[in-house]
Amino acid sequence: MNDDALRNRFLAFAGPAKYRKFVGKCSPVPGESYQEWYKGLRFWAEKLWDDFIHASEFQDVSIAILVEAFRVCPVHNEGMSSGVPMFDPLGISRLHEDFEHCLDTEFPFGFLPTRLVCPTCLRSCCAWLDSKAWENSSADKFTRCLAKYRRLVENGPVRREEVFNDNLVCHLLPLDEATLESCISTLTTDELECFDSFFARQVRPHDYMPRLLWVSNRYSDIENEATAKRLRPRYFLIDALVRKRLAGR
Ligand SMILES: [Zn+2]
Repeated sequence: MNDDALRNRFLAFAGPAKYRKFVGKCSPVPGESYQEWYKGLRFWAEKLWDDFIHASEFQDVSIAILVEAFRVCPVHNEGMSSGVPMFDPLGISRLHEDFEHCLDTEFPFGFLPTRLVCPTCLRSCCAWLDSKAWENSSADKFTRCLAKYRRLVENGPVRREEVFNDNLVCHLLPLDEATLESCISTLTTDELECFDSFFARQVRPHDYMPRLLWVSNRYSDIENEATAKRLRPRYFLIDALVRKRLAGR
């Protein structure tokens, strides 16, 4: 019995999505006993593991073997360690139907919610998100988000200032200037003023806004500052367009 065989058999048994979920969230840690690890499993994971063990020749598998086998990325054959995976501040993954397939085949251990991270998966996932962020220039996402926020403000105890913030700005970031202008032209004066005060607090005095700093830190961790450099002027462009629109009212 060896680690590759165990990993490959479990991958074939569980399928890529369950494998990712199981290994990324329920992996044993060095020093743990088999009993401790098994007791800490969630019900679905315990059932998956039991079914696998009963159907396989790995009935006496030890924790040492599990630790070794599960801490190697099945796509890149690289050692993994506990770490912070990539996230998706712009919600790009939800716009692309092939994202799940890419998770399975290109970067299974680079994206939330995995806790075991493969360095190559992380870089590959970042590059994928980055390329998609700038090819998507549709206003639909902003329009849908705006409609949702308007409903929140109308129906709930949510104040306009709480929702007209960087979340909404993030949907504007990938758009070209003409599309940006047309999106901003759909905002009411109240909404424009919310944006304006948000930029006045967060962007103009700081050069960087906190969210951008957060994003750029995460990106630079994985050696991709290109995205952060491209994002920065976008914030200032949006700010300028909002002010221009307000001045014309
Ligand atoms: Zn990998």
